[in-house]
Amino acid sequence: MSEDTRRLQYLHAMGIQSWRQRAPREITMGMDDRSAALTPPVPLVSHCDSAAVWDALQRTVAACTACPLHRTRTQTVFGVGDHHASCMVIGEAPGEREDLKGEPFVGKAGMLLNEMLQAMGLKREEVYISNILKCRPPQNRDPKPEEAASCEPFLKQQVGLVQPQIIVAVGRIAAQNLLKTQTPIGRLRGKVHYYANIPLVVTYHPAYLLRSLLDKRKAWDDLKLAMKVLRQARSD
Ligand code: SF4
Repeated sequence: MSEDTRRLQYLHAMGIQSWRQRAPREITMGMDDRSAALTPPVPLVSHCDSAAVWDALQRTVAACTACPLHRTRTQTVFGVGDHHASCMVIGEAPGEREDLKGEPFVGKAGMLLNEMLQAMGLKREEVYISNILKCRPPQNRDPKPEEAASCEPFLKQQVGLVQPQIIVAVGRIAAQNLLKTQTPIGRLRGKVHYYANIPLVVTYHPAYLLRSLLDKRKAWDDLKLAMKVLRQARSD
């Protein structure tokens, strides 16, 4: 099966029945994004492939009681994937299934995320997937700012260890927390932002896309922008 055929197959699975390759858009960066890029510097650890470092970080997260969410979690949901991934996906927080399984993006939303990644030419195991929060908020409510702030150092460590070439922020909560903005997701899409000096593209959360079929095409535009950034990074 050719690469194009496989991609069309995955696009079909995403609910996009047909598509035309458009002329690539220029990667734009508005003033909002410049200010986001200038948010307080993120202290990053060096890129490191030491399993011991990853294990230590995961154990620290598993024992974390820094915010009240530790009281209601079944377990922490640390993250999964390739420690050397070129693409890192960051979502909001574990849901019920993730809390039970200990893995981010499982169930139908996880399956759709897998399809989205495969449309980009990536397998799930080739990316690194994590969330803003490592513990499930009760009743899947939105994360509170203080919870996100308490948990962010763990995410910064993960980003610093992986050093991806592109971050895909999925969903409004993830995008707004990473970029320290209240700008609606519709205005965050279609641009390249930066988190810890790493290019970041915003798209819709797959759980939302499962309910909003019309926005799947917009999500594909977002993925194409992420692919363009990846191609540029690989050619540099
Ligand atoms: S959400 Fe993050 S900061 Fe809060 S208890 Fe869980 S691991 Fe710790």
